[in-house]
Amino acid sequence: MTAAYEVRDLVCRLGGRAIVRGVDLDVRHGEVLALVGPNGAGKSTLLGALTGDVPIAEGEVRLDGRPLGDWSAGDLARTRAVLLQANQVSFPFTVREVVEMGRNPWTGHASAADDDAAIAEAIDRSDVAHLLDRPFTALSGGEKARASLARVLAQRTDVVLLDEPTAALDLRHQEEVMVVARDLAATGRAVVVVLHDLSLAAARADRIAMVHDGRIVSVGTPAEVLTPERVEEVYGIGVHVLPAPDGHLIVVPHRGLSDTVSP
Ligand code: ADP
Ligand code: MG
Repeated sequence: MTAAYEVRDLVCRLGGRAIVRGVDLDVRHGEVLALVGPNGAGKSTLLGALTGDVPIAEGEVRLDGRPLGDWSAGDLARTRAVLLQANQVSFPFTVREVVEMGRNPWTGHASAADDDAAIAEAIDRSDVAHLLDRPFTALSGGEKARASLARVLAQRTDVVLLDEPTAALDLRHQEEVMVVARDLAATGRAVVVVLHDLSLAAARADRIAMVHDGRIVSVGTPAEVLTPERVEEVYGIGVHVLPAPDGHLIVVPHRGLSDTVSP
């Protein structure tokens, strides 16, 4: 698998503080890489550095071998698509219009011929066909997340960066988003996805990078990264890491018996 991103000694400063503090990371074409870590660890800031939205204070981020700063805005938009944590559409666009925005970077390019097919496929995969005429601003959190995902998919980029795409979703839609992520990777795309649900990350990511205090404290397969000791140290809560019947790892906090209801 070739590297989509090569991140070396990356430092990002926001508000005078180092938020990303010396990160090395490769992201490969054909993999789903999950970024996990506690609130405020620096996941969104790191993702922002990959998208080109957060300035690089020190170190280097290369995309397809080229330093991010050398990319034109247009080339970047045709290579990587981004789902931000806050779905920042504030004008009353319809869902259809939001999805169509995903095709803007391709205007004037040969691939514009694929606009209709890309939009139809994105709508289908994100399960938003029934929402197309609704104003985006009037959707529920989970519906907004799916409409935004459709916009990202319509962009048809080789690299897809998703910041907590499942946070507002019900159980089925969470799984569906991660199946979409897996399908993208299966066709050679590089997918980076910020997740809070460690069990979901364990089941659907090829590799997990755990972020803590602006650093990557562990990167590897789910089994390598999600040890009870590491999760407890990083999250400050004891957990059980158990194999589910289907073989995937599940991570649940120690809950004890004190709060359970007696039969
Ligand atoms: P995560 O996504 O892991 O929850 P973030 O990357 O959003 O974490 O934030 C990491 C830290 O950086 C937090 O302490 C947050 O308050 C801080 N931070 C984020 N954005 C800014 C900003 N624009 N200016 C100053 N501090 C910021
Ligand atoms: Mg975040």
